[in-house]
Amino acid sequence: MLSLRLALPILFAFLALPAHAEPKVDALRLYAFDCGRVVFDDLGAFSDTGEYDGQPGELSAPCFLIRHPKGDLLWDAGLGDRIAATPGGVSPRPGVRAFVAHTLQSQLEAVGVRAADVEYIAFSHFHWDHTGNANAFAGATWLLSRREVQALEGQPAPVSVTADNLSAYKQAKVELIDLDRDVFGDGSVRILRANGHTAGHQVLMLRLPKAGTVILSGDLFHTRENFEQGRMPAFNYSRGETLGAMDRVRRILSNTHGRLVIQHDRRDVDALPKAPGYLD
Ligand SMILES: [Zn+2]
Repeated sequence: MLSLRLALPILFAFLALPAHAEPKVDALRLYAFDCGRVVFDDLGAFSDTGEYDGQPGELSAPCFLIRHPKGDLLWDAGLGDRIAATPGGVSPRPGVRAFVAHTLQSQLEAVGVRAADVEYIAFSHFHWDHTGNANAFAGATWLLSRREVQALEGQPAPVSVTADNLSAYKQAKVELIDLDRDVFGDGSVRILRANGHTAGHQVLMLRLPKAGTVILSGDLFHTRENFEQGRMPAFNYSRGETLGAMDRVRRILSNTHGRLVIQHDRRDVDALPKAPGYLD
């Protein structure tokens, strides 16, 4: 048994530790992390009107950390750090290869944040390439689209969803979203309903103090060309709902002179500051 003389200093050392290890921020910040890339032999499925048939290509798969004075939010969880152990990449299905060069964990560490300290996690949608590291955030509050959860738990199982990636949500604190959600209550970080790519697809709208309005696209648009030409994948849940969501986001961008970041288009991701740099 420890004597009091030994135990008290140990107790006080623990009490002196702050509840959250990472330093808080005094204004909103957006960090973009490289959470992998996916290479396709044929991009044809990314437009249901035939423009990409037979063309090879690559999509980026970023994760985003939004730091707010009231807490941190991870938006989308990438391909999954376990893929980094296979430098030659993994093939989820024929004609598709996924690569992770840098783990999300190492990139969070580089900005002084631990996954266990992140207060919120949210997803544009549940496809495998957006949920790979989700279970590392089991201690966060999961802000989930009710329609996306209903699809996950329903039959037939939704396509391109790896349910194991999301298994922690069953034990985690979950808040379901029906319409839009103002994450921190001050209008600076809003999850917006933008259904159609999947049943409960969402985009994230930020009001940054210097950069102004920024919208993270999820998979509402996969490329700049899809944004400019109104193209969408053949595997979308609803063509009609996607057109409605595209119209909504275009109007908001126009009204706010906002910046759209198309998550799967490397040109848009590379135009953001490289972490540990950030947009504010
Ligand atoms: Zn995707």
